[in-house]
Formats: sequence, C-alpha cells, structure tokens
Amino acid sequence: MISIKGLKKQFDDLEVLKGMDIEVRKGQVIVLIGPSGSGKTTFLRCLNALEIPNGGEITIGDIGANFNGKVPKQKLLKLRRQTGMVFQSYNLFPHMTALENVMEGPITVQKRSKSEVCEKAKALLEKVGLGDKIDYYPFQLSGGQQQRVGIARALAIEPKVMLFDEPTSALDPELVGEVLKVMKDLAEEGMTMVVVTHEMRFAKEAADEVIFMDGGHIVERGDPMTIFENPQNDRTRKFLSLIQ
Ligand code: ATP
Repeated sequence: MISIKGLKKQFDDLEVLKGMDIEVRKGQVIVLIGPSGSGKTTFLRCLNALEIPNGGEITIGDIGANFNGKVPKQKLLKLRRQTGMVFQSYNLFPHMTALENVMEGPITVQKRSKSEVCEKAKALLEKVGLGDKIDYYPFQLSGGQQQRVGIARALAIEPKVMLFDEPTSALDPELVGEVLKVMKDLAEEGMTMVVVTHEMRFAKEAADEVIFMDGGHIVERGDPMTIFENPQNDRTRKFLSLIQ
C-alpha cells in the first residue's frame, strides 16, 4: 500500500530525513516512535505532500512520485488525496459545525454531491461516537470530541491510508482513551495507518510494527513485543528507558 524509497528531506542546511525506506502493507498499523526532532512529523508531512521531499520515491496505492526530479503539482495533489491526516491540534474550522467540518473536504476538493456527502458525514460522525453532536461548533466540544471530528473529517475523503501525528498529545489525560478507542476500531476494520504517538500502550495493543527513528534514520523496527521487551539497539533501549 505504501512504498518509500530513499526518502530525503532537508530544511536549508539541516538534513532531517537522510534516506528512509519503508514498505507498509494494506491493513498494517505502523507506529513511529523516537526522540523529539528525529524527523517523525516531517516524515508524515512528506507522505501527504505537505512537505516536498528533496529526494526519494513515495508510492501510495496506485499513485507514485519520484522526488529525485520535479514532481508536477497535479501529482502532488493526487498523492495528498491518498491520505487522511489527523493533527495534534485538531485544525477544525471554528465557524463550521462538526457536520460542516466533515463535509468540507469531499465537497470543495472532491466536488462530490452535497446530499451524498451529508449522509456519509453523518455516518462517520456516528462511527466516532458523535452522532448527537453533528450541529455543535468546535468551541462547544471537548478536545477529545474535536479530535474525533478531526478523524471523521480525515476519513471523509475516503483515503487509502490514515496518518496520525501525535493525535492525543494536546488532550487532557481523561480524554485520551476515547480517541485511542476510535483509532483502535479503525485499525481492527483494516485501515492502513501510520501513527506518530507517545502512547506506548496504543503501540503495544494496536501496532503490527513499531519503527524507532533517530537522527533522520530508521534505527530499529519490529513487532511491538520485540521492540518494547527486547530492543536490539542501544539507542532504542535508551529512548525506551526514558519514556517507560
Ligand atoms: P517531535 O517529537 O518534537 O514532534 P519530530 O521527531 O516530529 O519531533 P520534526 O518535527 O520532524 O521532529 O522535526 C525534525 C527537525 O526538523 C527539527 O530539528 C525541526 O526543528 C526541523 N524542522 C521541522 N520543520 C521545519 C521547517 N518547516 N523549517 C525548518 N526546520 C524544520
């Protein structure tokens, strides 16, 4: 479903991604962990073409782009539409209700019919447990509820892959569980997901594979049991000892 080869990204002189290779199969849940500044967010943003890589190849589903040369804008847009992204800070439109937020992408970007999109959006809000809040504005919702709207909104464009960038980091601890539950349900339904998170319990319970990144490289990868109970690399061990 996802194939990444030699992915590189630098900001001015700062090399953030130094050639990453990752394959993700359909339905797999990948959790990316690593110290602050290791390039996790940058990697996710490259996957959905919010950042333009300086080299390497990204293929998601049937759309491939080779960043060793210039990639046309149309191709970037197609690549972006393969993924739904959930941000730490929800990024909902404050002047729109939950329903309008979820309907916005399919109507403006995909030009789908309003009546079809409305039914679909209501079903998605139902799915994330907000069927009774569709007419609420973001300021009337808790952080956990806003983030669940954010997940419904990302799903509304019917992406092939869902990308989550620290989706629970801004939440009060008692609201984290409701968001993780929605993510686990999605994983169980077979959604392909790449998740950056500090929630090691989520990684242990839902990930098929955990990738430890440091300094713009993949240092170690494996099933959660191996990474958490028996990490092979010193840097992984050190990182885990600091956070667990
Ligand atoms: P965290 O866990 O703190 O979110 P991260 O692993 O997600 O960290 P990134 O946010 O990808 O790391 O940042 C990696 C490096 O790239 C950092 O040194 C950061 O300052 C730098 N960086 C990220 N975005 C930009 C940008 N737009 N311009 C310049 N430097 C950037």
